[in-house]
Amino acid sequence: MKSESILYALVPHDLAGHRLRISLTITNPDPQGQVLSLPAWIPGSYLIRDFARQVETISARSQEAEVEIQKIGNHSWRCAPCAGPLVVEYVVYAWDLSVRSAHVDETHAFFNGTSVFLAVHGQEDVPCHLLLEAPEGVAGWTVHTSLPEAKSHPQCAPRNGFGMYLAPNYDALVDHPVEMGTPHTISFEACGARHEMVFTGVIPNIDLERIAEDVRRICEAQIEFFEPVTRAAPFLDSSDRYVFMTMVTGDGYGGLEHRASTALMCSRGDLPSRASPQGGEGYENFLGLVSHEYFHTWNVKRIKPAAFAPYDLYRENHTELLWVFEGFTSYYDDLFLLRAGLIDENAYLRRLARTISMVQRGSGRLKQSVAESSFDAWTRFYKQDENSPNALVSYYTKGSLVAAGLDLAIRNATYGAHSLDDVMRLMWERYGRDFYRDMPVGIEETAMPELIREATGFDAAEFLARYAYGREDVPLAELLEPQGIKLSWKVPKNDSGLDARLRSANGTCSIASVHEGGVAHRAGLSAGDVFVAVAGLRVQDEKSVQAILARHHPGDTVVVHVFRRDELRQFELVLAEPAATECELQREPDTSTATEPGHG
Ligand SMILES: [Zn+2]
Repeated sequence: MKSESILYALVPHDLAGHRLRISLTITNPDPQGQVLSLPAWIPGSYLIRDFARQVETISARSQEAEVEIQKIGNHSWRCAPCAGPLVVEYVVYAWDLSVRSAHVDETHAFFNGTSVFLAVHGQEDVPCHLLLEAPEGVAGWTVHTSLPEAKSHPQCAPRNGFGMYLAPNYDALVDHPVEMGTPHTISFEACGARHEMVFTGVIPNIDLERIAEDVRRICEAQIEFFEPVTRAAPFLDSSDRYVFMTMVTGDGYGGLEHRASTALMCSRGDLPSRASPQGGEGYENFLGLVSHEYFHTWNVKRIKPAAFAPYDLYRENHTELLWVFEGFTSYYDDLFLLRAGLIDENAYLRRLARTISMVQRGSGRLKQSVAESSFDAWTRFYKQDENSPNALVSYYTKGSLVAAGLDLAIRNATYGAHSLDDVMRLMWERYGRDFYRDMPVGIEETAMPELIREATGFDAAEFLARYAYGREDVPLAELLEPQGIKLSWKVPKNDSGLDARLRSANGTCSIASVHEGGVAHRAGLSAGDVFVAVAGLRVQDEKSVQAILARHHPGDTVVVHVFRRDELRQFELVLAEPAATECELQREPDTSTATEPGHG
């Protein structure tokens, strides 16, 4: 019988110590000495993370004899030349509760393949079998993953999901994360395709039926958007199901996209319970996150920049186009809450206004374009510090405003005949639909203006030169006006008047970041300064700073005492007229029949 060419067997073997044990069997190792590597980063999260640093022990053997294995770089090992099969056993420490790596304890295990599966150099295209084994001493655990079962394999018949799985190659193997434990689960069909939702964590009375129904509407709206004729779900090229795996914590938020699943993190309070059926902004945020990650199933998991087709998992993959892949996705995530009927137009405009305010607040937007921010994601956006608001622009938030502006510009120029939707669908047809079936081809760095022209007839070259490759603010007030939406600015409530972001903890108030050119900056205050007194009065939190400053007028001078490290310093604040930095969007009363921005 022909055995597997590459077989991984994984078992959570020390739950209290947070360890996963993996055994890798290579039938035909490289006769020159097999090289093995763990990825340096995980696609979707653009930071070198050096997952190999969590490999605690590693050994190799061939035909009962030990084989020497040597580290040859940050992520790589080389085995001594030997005959096959070569068996490599290693232990990975897994104690990072995030969507990006691996986590195991007595309640569950979650892992991404990039944290646990060594790549076999030279055999990246060989199909990979994966045997998932249940940990000893726990009962009732089940496995949840979009990785297909190895249907024809004798060890398939997965019991509660434990058993044999099969990936067509290494790239696929590491793109199907796995959750195991005793989670809350529910499944539903959207456009005839199976979807599973898995929630890990303590979540009393979670209203699974309501969540599944709302998420189903998002999924159907997005599938019908990209495939209006066939209503074919995008992930069927890789799996017979899509899996949402959510880790629920006290204050988590985040997500990571995969080809047929997503790993999410959210706050317990954002999920509806059967006891309190109301939704609220937290639930809207959760649905927005679901919508965002699901949209990535098309945009970035199949429609990709050329730099990601294929990924190089051992170094930074630079592209100037993350504003298309993250920015456009951020624009459509909220828009699909509206299109699926989960929020109304007022709520949508509130969410868009919040993004506009966020972008406007940072002077970094005048120093960096979203194209530059995309390129520098690895060393700047993912390595933020206290000065980031003054130095960087987010390709997520400003990228979503570029998408909104572009959508409006196309609609206005074509009298509603075309929109950004046409651009997305053209990108899907040309690059995405057959990505995993054909030779993978991505979008070249300079291709966007031509794609937009082809899809809509709109010449976007100048628009993109100014707002995506240049640093100008997207003129949204002007672009929204023909759609009957008025953009205005007001002074935010609870503004401290310091032009700084404050942080309160344990009875002290400190400065998290100082906005360039503002009151705190002009006075000499810095990030990290801890307030002792404002106008001679002790302050303990942000509220007390606001209350004292609110008793003064613009133009007044107020003495502030702070600790900078352990030194007491005194500064003089000269208060200013508060700036109108909060955006408001309102439909003009006489245009109630017009369509909302981007809706259609
Ligand atoms: Zn994203």
